[in-house]
Amino acid sequence: MNTAPGQVTLVGAGPGDPELLTLKAVNAIAAASVILVDDLVGEGVLAHARPDARITYVGKRGGCKSTPQATIEQLMLGAAQAGENVVRLKGGDPFIFGRGGEEVESLRRAGIEPVVINGITAGLAAITSLGAPLTHREHAQGVVFVTGHPQKDGPGLDWVRLGESARDLRLTLVIYMGISSAALIQAGLLAALADGTPVAVIERATLKNQRQCLTSLREMLSDLQHCGLGSPAIMVVGDVVTGVREALRAPMLADQSA
Ligand code: SAH
Repeated sequence: MNTAPGQVTLVGAGPGDPELLTLKAVNAIAAASVILVDDLVGEGVLAHARPDARITYVGKRGGCKSTPQATIEQLMLGAAQAGENVVRLKGGDPFIFGRGGEEVESLRRAGIEPVVINGITAGLAAITSLGAPLTHREHAQGVVFVTGHPQKDGPGLDWVRLGESARDLRLTLVIYMGISSAALIQAGLLAALADGTPVAVIERATLKNQRQCLTSLREMLSDLQHCGLGSPAIMVVGDVVTGVREALRAPMLADQSA
């Protein structure tokens, strides 16, 4: 085991397709002696790891409960203090709903300044895979990334107000972790946005088994149930969805090869 102080790098693994890794991410993965891997990291990403790297899965694999956040932070810290070159691999970007901020704070408290390498966040990759943008001079002058997952013990997001902002300021809404709250989201947004507002729901974006559902705010819930889409998925709400490439528009549910 090394004795020199180690280092920790939080690496964004992108949405799944290993070709969407950055060169910095590949280099960090290839140099790591210890790799802590999240749930939503695509399979091919670890092909860049050294054969002798110690790889630990800390996500909810195989129906197991995910490793508590405090344990993950201890694992990172312990390995770094033992002189290891630690990579913490996170799906998408570490700083978008990835608890990257919390991990950085906890490492800093212990005297370690981690390096953070961006990854392509799922919300961007999902709509790009359908050929549409998130902003457009005619449709949307901004974009909001929100989580649909209600805060523990806290009030849920005010979907009506968010819908009003999206309407008044012409913003695209990109909703992470929204599937289980789809009914709540739909009801709130319908109070502000036209019921024909286009919606795209993209499951497992950029992975081989990607599926998507193109619908409207009015039909969103029934179409989701009809198509059986589940997590992980991104919902994109707004007129930019009309830019989805033609071949995908006609069938409500299509696989990416359509
Ligand atoms: N840090 C990640 C987000 C982590 S939160 C990022 O930047 O992408 C986990 C949520 O991200 C999932 O519930 C889902 O809403 C979304 N997500 C992650 N990967 C996805 C993928 N390949 N396709 C669709 N949604 C995905």
